[in-house]
Amino acid sequence: MKNYKECNIVQDLLPNYVENLTSEGTNNYIEEHISECKECKTILEDMSKDIGGKKTEKNDKEVIYIKLYKKRLRMLRNVLLLIFAIIIFTIARKFWLLTYFAIKTDELAKSDNYYIEREIYEKGKRTEIDKTYHKDNASITYNWVFLKDPTRRRYFN
Ligand SMILES: [Zn+2]
Repeated sequence: MKNYKECNIVQDLLPNYVENLTSEGTNNYIEEHISECKECKTILEDMSKDIGGKKTEKNDKEVIYIKLYKKRLRMLRNVLLLIFAIIIFTIARKFWLLTYFAIKTDELAKSDNYYIEREIYEKGKRTEIDKTYHKDNASITYNWVFLKDPTRRRYFN
């Protein structure tokens, strides 16, 4: 006792039923019909397969997108780490140089065997040079004074 009119209605509703868009009453109606109608049951099964296939394809695309996103995130993280490392290296190097010069200056100041050269400039022109030699707690200072005429050079001890 097949009612073809009912089949038409059920088949019209099947796309929505597969997408879970139908109400509970409609669901009951469709399920009841399907349990008795082989034709409609086959159509429903085919539709379900199609939907399943589409979902898998969509999931694959999402997985590819997520992988790409993660890859880009990793690259960004590596670039940031590199920049951070360069900054740290630069700061550390400056500190190291400052410490190095401080230690050297300290060593020179404490040692009794060193010499200091001091140049005096006037209007960007070198006018004087002091050279102080220090050894065994005794120091000698040489002083060169540059006159306006560079060929005439005076020397003081
Ligand atoms: Zn049917």
